Amino acid sequence: MILDRLLSWFTVDMGIDLGTCNTLVAVRGQGIVLNEPSVVAVRKGTNEVLRNGQAVGWVAKEMLGKTPGSITAVRPLKDGVISDFTITEAMLSYFIGKVTGRIRTIGPRVVISIPSGITLVEKRAVLDSAQRAGARKTYLLEEPVAAAIGAGLPFAEPTASMIVDIGGGTTEVAIMSLADIATCESVRVAGDDMDEAIINHMKRTYNLMIGEQTAERIKIEIGSAAPVGDETAMDVRGRDMISGLPRKTTITSEEIREALQEPVNSIIDAVTRTLERAEPELSADLVDRGIVIAGGGALLRGLGIVLQKATGLDVRLADDPLTCVARGTAVYLENLEEWQVTLENDMDV
Ligand code: ADP
Ligand code: MG
Repeated sequence: MILDRLLSWFTVDMGIDLGTCNTLVAVRGQGIVLNEPSVVAVRKGTNEVLRNGQAVGWVAKEMLGKTPGSITAVRPLKDGVISDFTITEAMLSYFIGKVTGRIRTIGPRVVISIPSGITLVEKRAVLDSAQRAGARKTYLLEEPVAAAIGAGLPFAEPTASMIVDIGGGTTEVAIMSLADIATCESVRVAGDDMDEAIINHMKRTYNLMIGEQTAERIKIEIGSAAPVGDETAMDVRGRDMISGLPRKTTITSEEIREALQEPVNSIIDAVTRTLERAEPELSADLVDRGIVIAGGGALLRGLGIVLQKATGLDVRLADDPLTCVARGTAVYLENLEEWQVTLENDMDV
């Protein structure tokens, strides 16, 4: 341990939020040093990563718009499970390499936050990838724990904290106390499903095909879970499903709210189910402490309001919800010696 601490003076120890949409890396004293989409460009139909494993993140995203159909984008963690180990490893190596730089004598210590629903085999694969990418030591941290630390919740104290982390592919709901997860649930309904609900709405109502990026823009610009502020409208362009020709139409914030109801309700259900399973003593704490929401999906307007209505508890949006998990992994890294002994769910296997 002491040697480890000494060595860490010479390395760039880092915390990584391996998200379904975005991967972030935080380094002690420097904050977030990398924030890129969790995307890898591969040759279509294969798991061959382009440019010797260098077509990852922004590079991959940029290549996509400009390359022929033989190249496709893969989001290896899209639904909160690792769809392809080779591609995940390429992504992790690229990001770790980018942060440590070329000259690497002693490998860094790495804390990686992973969706809590992933299997042991997948955890092993993440550990192996980090090791092969040059990590000296790797610790896996469950995402809700990282989110709770990042949000500054007293997760190690004998009082209940509740976090709801809404990402792109998964929503993680957890009640924690004494540095341990008491109850948690991971559902595969999150930001991506909101985009998909908007795509379906446009098809059904307007016979208009729109892309995923357009759907995401609609969600961010005028989407909501409950009425907040003035209702607005927006022009949307796409391809007419009948004539096949480009066309535009105007949509309103009310109809998008309606379209988002199904994924929003699934998230609410996951939260209420988790609350129903909590020990009464922990429920009692939550009456005072409320719920904290984090992740990009938490930025949907009015989401706090609908969660508050459904649970009767106070709902607070974490500061900077998109970086919450990454910041949490960095804080965990700093307190490794102290928390490693208390955290039962530490997976340094
Ligand atoms: P992950 O941890 O799975 O990588 P993030 O926490 O980075 O996910 O969140 C990404 C999701 O948040 C995406 O679905 C994105 O569309 C959504 N998102 C980002 N900003 C907003 C916003 N202002 N309103 C609604 N959704 C948002
Ligand atoms: Mg996340």
